Amino acid sequence: MAAVETMVRVGKAAHGRGVFAKRAIRKGTLVGLVQGKVIDDAEYYSDYCIDLGGTLSLEPKTPFCYLNHCCEPNCQLLLTEKRNKDGSLAPSTVHVKTLRGIKLGEELTIDYAWDSVKPLRCLCGAASCRGWIVAVNHVFDKSTAY
Ligand SMILES: [Zn+2]
Repeated sequence: MAAVETMVRVGKAAHGRGVFAKRAIRKGTLVGLVQGKVIDDAEYYSDYCIDLGGTLSLEPKTPFCYLNHCCEPNCQLLLTEKRNKDGSLAPSTVHVKTLRGIKLGEELTIDYAWDSVKPLRCLCGAASCRGWIVAVNHVFDKSTAY
């Protein structure tokens, strides 16, 4: 796997910052490992943490903390379950994998698929945009949304 730095950079996106391809990336490529702080707290919540199962969450570091949501994403998060030597569950590893070919300069996006009670309006602009940053089948009360 090539170094993450050779594939992507953090740049200015339509809203805040985003992750952009520094070169063309083929479909099915593991762009990189999402590194960050693993937090073992069932109550823990932040805007960008990734659920690793059980009580574990991953608070990603740059560059992948800047991955933006799109309802037609070109990447996905690939979780690999890990076990400790004693068989207990260890924190999963998370990679960013491309769902299709990505052009030089294109922004990398994922589908956050949040089960949020206070969803954000989605401004991704995709033809199939769901209008809110939530999981496809997620039902929520629009009056509680931001
Ligand atoms: Zn959208």
